[in-house]
Amino acid sequence: MMGPIVSIVCGAMIGSFLNVCISRLPKGESIVFPGSHCPKCGKPIRFYDNIPVISFILLRGRCRSCRTPISFQYPLVEAVTALASLTLFARFGASLSYLVYFSFVASLIVVTVIDLYHQIIPDVISLPGIAVGLLSAAVNPFLSFFDSFLGALLGGGTLFVIAGLYQWLFKREGMGGGDVKLLAMIGAFLGWKAVVLTILLGSFAGSVIGVGIILLKGRDFKYAIPFGPFLSLGALLSLFYGEALLQWYLGLRTG
Ligand SMILES: [Zn+2]
Repeated sequence: MMGPIVSIVCGAMIGSFLNVCISRLPKGESIVFPGSHCPKCGKPIRFYDNIPVISFILLRGRCRSCRTPISFQYPLVEAVTALASLTLFARFGASLSYLVYFSFVASLIVVTVIDLYHQIIPDVISLPGIAVGLLSAAVNPFLSFFDSFLGALLGGGTLFVIAGLYQWLFKREGMGGGDVKLLAMIGAFLGWKAVVLTILLGSFAGSVIGVGIILLKGRDFKYAIPFGPFLSLGALLSLFYGEALLQWYLGLRTG
């Protein structure tokens, strides 16, 4: 019973750190110094007010000093990271593969929230992510280095070509360079088959949500829907259900 509990607690604590990354990386601030402080009144947050999820509930979502509401993003990211940690622990146990995939999913969480807020995917996550993904293949029995390398190449290359074609056809930028680097990172961590699946699932989810938003808000709605969250979702589905989806698809074709 200890393993799952430790994985949840560690996940929540890392989630708290991911929140720091999410608020500071887009501003180019250090993620280490200074310690956590209220973005409104600047008061340092005490360790007992910084317990993932629980503090948010005890403080009823407000800063202890100035009572400014704290964004719901904080407990949400902590809870999602804790859940991701538990799910990966259940799948991979206390192993190097768990560490590899957890760092991958943690990066996706940061990328998703930053992309939703700012429509950017920071290079400081995707570029080192590509390198870590390639290196991790050395210790991850579920992925060969060749597959990882091919994944990074295909991920980066495919989106690069699609982005270029789109720009050439419609004379405007459809996909950011950030998406290209993100998909290269996804390929490095999950291999080339997952890249294909991620593009299919991500585009499908993106189209459904995109059409939904146009129906709800009208065609002139001025919000560029970022693609990063959909690529991240596609990557998560590939990680957890990739084999099953592939089997199902191959079964459809032969049966
Ligand atoms: Zn405050």
